[in-house]
Amino acid sequence: MKRILTGDRTTGNLHIGHYVGTLENRVKMQDTHQTFVMLADVQALTDNFQNPGRVHDAVFQVAIDNLSVGLDSDKSTLFIQSLIPELAELTVYFMNLVTLSRLQRNPTVKDEMQQKGFGTNIPVGFLNYPISQAADILGFQADIVPVGKDQAPMLEQTREIAKKFNELYGETFVVPEILLGRVAKLIGTDGNNKMSKSLGNIISLSDDSEQVRKQVKSMYTDPNRVTKDVPGNVSNNPVFIYLDALGKPNHLQTINEFKKRYLAGGIGDVEVKDFLFEVIEDFLEPIRAKREYYQSNPELINKILKTGTERARQEVQNTLEKAKKSMHFSFNDF
Ligand code: ATP
Ligand code: MG
Repeated sequence: MKRILTGDRTTGNLHIGHYVGTLENRVKMQDTHQTFVMLADVQALTDNFQNPGRVHDAVFQVAIDNLSVGLDSDKSTLFIQSLIPELAELTVYFMNLVTLSRLQRNPTVKDEMQQKGFGTNIPVGFLNYPISQAADILGFQADIVPVGKDQAPMLEQTREIAKKFNELYGETFVVPEILLGRVAKLIGTDGNNKMSKSLGNIISLSDDSEQVRKQVKSMYTDPNRVTKDVPGNVSNNPVFIYLDALGKPNHLQTINEFKKRYLAGGIGDVEVKDFLFEVIEDFLEPIRAKREYYQSNPELINKILKTGTERARQEVQNTLEKAKKSMHFSFNDF
C-alpha cells in the first residue's frame, strides 16, 4: 500500500481552499493509501512565535476540521508534530545538505517573507522551515504528498534533499511525488490573494450561516461592473470560482445559466451571491453535523491524537534509525 503524508499548519480554522486543495484528496485516498496527517504546530510557530498559545489551541481546531470533512481515525493517522522530536533531529542532518542561497531562492519562502513583512530580519527558524518540512515528509517515507500549489516549491526542495541524501549515504529515502487538488490554488474573498488563514480572506469550514452570509455579501466580484446590465467577467470572479469549486451536480444547471446571464449583463451580483450562499450552505451542512459530534467529545479527540501520535512517532523513529545507519552514524552500544 502506498503511503501519503500531508498536513496543515495550526494557525487557525481550515477553509474551503484547504478542502479543494488537499482535504478532499486525503479523505478520498485514505481507503487505498496508508494516510498520515500532521498537525504542524512546530512549523506554525516559525512565524507565530510571539503567540505559542494560539498555535497550541489551534491544534484541536485543525484536528476537528479534518475529522469533520471525513478523515477517519480508523483509517488515517492524525498526529501532532511537536510530539515527535525525531523530526527535529532529522532536520538537523538535512540542514547540512542545503545551502543558504537555495533556501533564499525558494519562491514560497520569498512570497511569505514579503507577506509577513520580515524585511531583511528573517528569523532562522522561518528560513529553515522547508528543511523541517522535508524531514516531516521523508521521515514517513511518503510516496505521495497531497497539497495545494503553494507547496510545490517545498516539495521540490524535499525531493532534492532526498536525492542528495541517497546519493551521499546510499539509498535511504523514498523520493515523494506531489499530488495537487482539484482546485490547486483557491483565490480568497478579496479576489486578489490565495485564500489563506493568515490573511482573513476566507470562508471557514466552521463558519455558521451568519458568518457565511456576511463573507459572501462583502465578496469581491467584477470591479468593472457598475450596474447589472454591464457584461461581467466570470473567470477571475471568486463568486463563480466558488460556485464551480463547491457546486454539486444538482446545482450545475443554474451555475451554467447564471454564467451565461452574467457574461451577457443579464443578472445582478445580489442574485448570484444569494445562490452562492445556498451552495456553500449545502456544502457545509454535513460538515457542521460531524463537527458538532466531535466538539461535544473532546476526550475522543484526545484519544485519536494520542494514539495517532504514538503510531506516527514509531514510524519516524524507524526512519531516523535507518538514516543514521546509512550515514554510519549510530552508536549501537549506547
Ligand atoms: P497560513 O496562512 O498559516 O500558511 P494556509 O491557509 O496557507 O495558512 P496551510 O496550513 O499553510 O494553510 O496549508 C495547508 C494545506 O492547504 C497545504 O497543502 C496548502 O497547499 C493547502 N492550501 C492552503 N491554502 C490553499 C488555497 N487557497 N487553495 C488550495 N490549497 C490551499
Ligand atoms: Mg500556508
